[in-house]
Amino acid sequence: MHQEGLETAGTILLRAGLKRTMGRIAIINLLMTAEYPLSQHEIAHRLPKVSMNGVSIYRSLDAFLKAGIVHRVESGDRTWRFAICGCGTRGHCHPHFICKQCGKVECLPGHNLPEFGKMQPGYVVEEQEFYIRGRCAGCST
Ligand SMILES: [Zn+2]
Ligand SMILES: [Zn+2]
Repeated sequence: MHQEGLETAGTILLRAGLKRTMGRIAIINLLMTAEYPLSQHEIAHRLPKVSMNGVSIYRSLDAFLKAGIVHRVESGDRTWRFAICGCGTRGHCHPHFICKQCGKVECLPGHNLPEFGKMQPGYVVEEQEFYIRGRCAGCST
């Protein structure tokens, strides 16, 4: 589901001008293979081979966000979830689906965001987020 193709975690970090540490590579690899956006807690939980404390995971995610290689999703439970992004901006380039029943968050990379008309003069749009809420396949049956 990721548009990065054959790009490795190392090249993603290199292209973003970020230091390639074991921990960062492990987080990128994790996000590249994750089937849905992961919270910081889930990331920490899935990184058993690399010893990284919460602070360094937080700092890595923050650096990834600033570099535009990940985006984050707020699903309504005040937990940020992170996913790899192929569009190269820290804004959202695709809508996200949120299941109201189980709380699952999914990237919908095949869908474009609705075109937003011109803002009034003087306004600068920095982020545009589009969420679709409902029930996922597992919850609707
Ligand atoms: Zn669900
Ligand atoms: Zn996404």
